[in-house]
Amino acid sequence: MATINRRNFLRRTSLLAAATALPMGCSDGNDQRTRTAIVIGSGFAGSVAALRLGLAGIHTTVLERGRLWTVAGPDTFPTTGNFDHRSSWTIPGAEAAAAGQRGYAGLLENIVGDNVTAVCGACVGGGSLVYGGVLIQPQRDVFESVLPFLSYDEMDAVYYPRVIREIGASPIPDDVLGSTTYQAHREFLDDAAALGFEQLRPNTSFDWDIIRREIAGEIPAAASVSEYAFGCNSDAKLSTDKNYLKRAIATGAVELRSLTEVEILRERAGGGYTVVCRAITDEGGLVERYELDADYVFLAAGSMNTSKLLLKSQDAGELRGANDRVGAGWGTNGDQLLAQSHPGLQPGPQGGPACIAAVDRTDANYPVTFMHSPVAFGIQLQLAMSVPDELGRLRYDPDSDGVVIDWAADTGTPSEQARVASYQRLVRGNGGAALPDFLGGTIWHPLGGAPMNDACDALGQLYGYRNLFVVDGSLLPGSAGAVNPALTIAANAERIMAALIPGLA
Ligand SMILES: Cc1cc2nc3c(=O)[nH]c(=O)nc-3n(C[C@H](O)[C@H](O)[C@H](O)COP(=O)(O)OP(=O)(O)OC[C@H]3O[C@@H](n4cnc5c(N)ncnc54)[C@H](O)[C@@H]3O)c2cc1C
Repeated sequence: MATINRRNFLRRTSLLAAATALPMGCSDGNDQRTRTAIVIGSGFAGSVAALRLGLAGIHTTVLERGRLWTVAGPDTFPTTGNFDHRSSWTIPGAEAAAAGQRGYAGLLENIVGDNVTAVCGACVGGGSLVYGGVLIQPQRDVFESVLPFLSYDEMDAVYYPRVIREIGASPIPDDVLGSTTYQAHREFLDDAAALGFEQLRPNTSFDWDIIRREIAGEIPAAASVSEYAFGCNSDAKLSTDKNYLKRAIATGAVELRSLTEVEILRERAGGGYTVVCRAITDEGGLVERYELDADYVFLAAGSMNTSKLLLKSQDAGELRGANDRVGAGWGTNGDQLLAQSHPGLQPGPQGGPACIAAVDRTDANYPVTFMHSPVAFGIQLQLAMSVPDELGRLRYDPDSDGVVIDWAADTGTPSEQARVASYQRLVRGNGGAALPDFLGGTIWHPLGGAPMNDACDALGQLYGYRNLFVVDGSLLPGSAGAVNPALTIAANAERIMAALIPGLA
């Protein structure tokens, strides 16, 4: 089991034991003993929860199944040009591991369903290490159509800016956008302007100074030639391990255990929860299996794995509260990756990361956001997103110990038709040609499985359970409002933690 800063943590633990931790808003009135929390998963939501718990002085253990990746030169992460075992999470289940099977704690997990493959991060920092880097805010009306019970004003004024500040994200600067490898971005902006689409330069979690050094040839090129999808070898990506999690650990109240997979969650008779986990090697060998108790559990394993953990624990009779909505409200965020050839495109690698977008509001009911998705070869690639009509459900399959996606493909739905029509306008407008299916059926934004105001209340507390909170992408009902979801996931986690921990808001 790898730990960050364990010696420091143990030293601080003895100091903290003597102190009175800040009670959480949801704790029992005058109980003065030190409260404990477990956060499962260290992606966007887990990192936010860890920091806010740590700052409140609550003893917190973050359990993360994946490895810690620290940039140590240009071969730290695999690249699209040097694709290897480090790219994929191939860790076998407990039984197969006991029988001697091995894999690797790689960066991305693929969960294959009948109509769709959902991809998610599997490392310290979760999706923040492998994502495109764009932190885009949904537009008010679309947000309100998806999450009508939340205040957009409050998100806009407090929680979205809080996340941007903590991560240190900013829009692509003019000089970078003007440099050679960013020609595809400029073409896209021109095309969008010609069609009357709204052009956006959202905040992006990359250090533009490092990218400038790449462009100047001072360090090996990575982000500036679109090598950013598996982590960024120039260290330009501002993933949450470098900001939220680092600050959480620095509080002295938070311990991070990487390569530690939570297998099941059990209610304790007297209140609180027991978490059963297995510490593994980076090839999946068992180091130890143990149990950990806490007063509060924060589920932040991402839509697919938070849902799996809850469904599995219910299936095993370890979580007995009545809640048949776990697994519901799952969707693809209306994602569709659309490629085209483009007559104005220069050959050669395009600059990254994803950092410009455009919104087509031709269909008033289904605005379509295109996230320009730069690649290392000569096509124009856009991720189109619209609010989906088709939501599905996740199920647990005990035979495979896996999560099953019950989702009917959304072909022909008004949402899909709006995306396709918009894409056709774009292609017609710039004189290019649509390219067939590019990674068709793969989505990078699985959302839902424990939606707010459905399986959970608006603070993520699971109906039927006390002090069991979901804080991650499972809370969003299959859509983040026609944009990439990470910013909304993190901001929503901030909102929840601010409400739960008095004095923070
Ligand atoms: C290739 C790619 C590109 C993307 N690009 C963008 C983008 O540019 N902008 C954007 O907004 N979004 C993007 N996304 C989506 C974004 O990364 C996710 O929506 C976001 O990370 C989800 O946040 P989360 O907190 O819900 O979970 P995650 O960030 O997925 O974190 C979940 C964590 O839990 C861990 N975990 C899972 N199961 C267990 C377990 N049983 N025990 C212990 N730990 C566990 C995982 O290893 C992971 O670290 C992208 C995703 C991918 C895959």
